[in-house]
Amino acid sequence: MTAPLDALVVGAGPTGLALATQLRAYGTPFRIVDRSTDRARESRAPAIQPRTLEMLSAFGVADDLVDRGNATVGLHLHLPRRVLRVPVFDVGCDDTPYPFLLFLPQSETEATLTAHLAARDVMVERGTELLRAEPGGEYVTCRLRHRDGTEESVRARYVAGCDGAHSTVRSQAGIGFEGYAYPQTFLLADLEADGLEPGVAHTYMTATGLLFFFPLGTPATWRMIAMHPPGSPGGKLSLDLLQRIADDWTPDRLSLRDPVWMTSFRIHNRGATHYRRGPFFLAGDAAHIHSPAGGQGMNTGIQDALNLGWKLAHVCRGAAPEELLETYEAERAPVGRGVRRLTDRAFTVGTSSHPALRLARTRLAPHMAPLLLRATGARARLFRTVSELGIHYRRGPASVTGRHRPRQGPRAGDRLPDAPAGLQRRVAGPGYHLLLTGPAHVWPDDLPPGGRRDLLTVHHLGPRSPWPGLTQALVRPDGYVGHLAAGTDIAGLRAYLDRWLPTP
Ligand SMILES: Cc1cc2nc3c(=O)[nH]c(=O)nc-3n(C[C@H](O)[C@H](O)[C@H](O)COP(=O)(O)OP(=O)(O)OC[C@H]3O[C@@H](n4cnc5c(N)ncnc54)[C@H](O)[C@@H]3O)c2cc1C
Repeated sequence: MTAPLDALVVGAGPTGLALATQLRAYGTPFRIVDRSTDRARESRAPAIQPRTLEMLSAFGVADDLVDRGNATVGLHLHLPRRVLRVPVFDVGCDDTPYPFLLFLPQSETEATLTAHLAARDVMVERGTELLRAEPGGEYVTCRLRHRDGTEESVRARYVAGCDGAHSTVRSQAGIGFEGYAYPQTFLLADLEADGLEPGVAHTYMTATGLLFFFPLGTPATWRMIAMHPPGSPGGKLSLDLLQRIADDWTPDRLSLRDPVWMTSFRIHNRGATHYRRGPFFLAGDAAHIHSPAGGQGMNTGIQDALNLGWKLAHVCRGAAPEELLETYEAERAPVGRGVRRLTDRAFTVGTSSHPALRLARTRLAPHMAPLLLRATGARARLFRTVSELGIHYRRGPASVTGRHRPRQGPRAGDRLPDAPAGLQRRVAGPGYHLLLTGPAHVWPDDLPPGGRRDLLTVHHLGPRSPWPGLTQALVRPDGYVGHLAAGTDIAGLRAYLDRWLPTP
């Protein structure tokens, strides 16, 4: 048997690839396997949210994604008898370098991450399936089957289940997956649609249900998603059926053609009962699946991975206690539950055939939607939720505010905002970053405390300080503020570091 690994990543969808990207940045010994012999070529999740781009920018991947994708800032909401032109992310997103929704097929997102890994000598082992995983002592023994039928046993300290909705890791860990399936069937197609204003997303709200066109760019100009019309016969999905839906559900004369991919699917809403059991971790679709409303699925998976990777890396190299791994479920399970709740509500309002909700869609929405959209406070809250910039771990065990709290700026557990001084680029390297405002000479000389220079970088922001007064903000490797205090007393910071980044 080969030397044991620190981590085995099972699954090379967007979640597994993001986890591998972070583990590679820390030099953690790991392997990444996927049972499919080729990467997925279908477009699947079409949109990347601002927070995902922010988190991936730490590895130099975000700009490649932006170059390949289609940044969209507009939505046309087609209501009965009127069209509302809704600017997307124009309020509540002024503190991010990525104030837009990036349309890019999932296949391209995966290709970009795969190329990034390959350039750093990490090859996804395709055609390699995890069959069994048995914990025992210090390591889990994992049985892998290769594409030529040969089998191999590898030992790994931790096993990350990024292996999708039917996760083998989840079943090997004995973790439940609870929830329900929605009765509706959905139709999806990547195609050309003549008659649509280009470069913006279109939502048609009808009595029957919702119809979407997203500006995908490649492999086709548009992604169309519609509910299978109630009462219409099942059977093979055809361009004729999609054209009929467009004719019946929109007042516009749309002409659909040249489909590159058409499929139908059912939607589930399920969540893992735990994100961790012993040496097993779950992330992405292995931990949560839900409706695609709001484009949250793939994004939540990538952010699970980027919450987990640095924690595994720190624990494996002995830089952090095992207890740090407990914070993964504490921080990410509430996020997964929130996404399931939010997408369930949006889905129910958008698709229900209940008379009250049909009335809301056809009669109330044309009057209420303009009023709601004019309420900038409500719109900012909505955009921060959908963009995932609003995700925070304020109640998590690794978010601590000192005795004196700064009057301005983020709170402990919030993501570090980019405004006003392009802060995120300053803290883009791996490890923790300590931001100190005010003149450098007022701070103690022996920073970082305890000689943690390899994993903690100190930044004196000086005259370019984003917040007035004296603030110490310790930013975690995933860009969230771990410890925050006002004033130059660093006793609280020392205590935080002693707990989460102890001196060897
Ligand atoms: C038709 C369709 C349309 C979708 N549309 C949207 C959308 O509009 N918006 C949205 O946000 N999301 C959408 N999704 C969901 C989105 O694709 C998923 O959320 C995303 O792929 C999750 O990524 P993941 O890496 O967690 O899992 P996956 O992408 O499922 O990757 C899991 C990987 O694990 C591998 N694997 C599984 N078992 C094993 C094993 N035992 N050993 C080794 N490898 C294994 C699989 O081969 C796979 O490559 C759609 C999905 C589908 C199928």
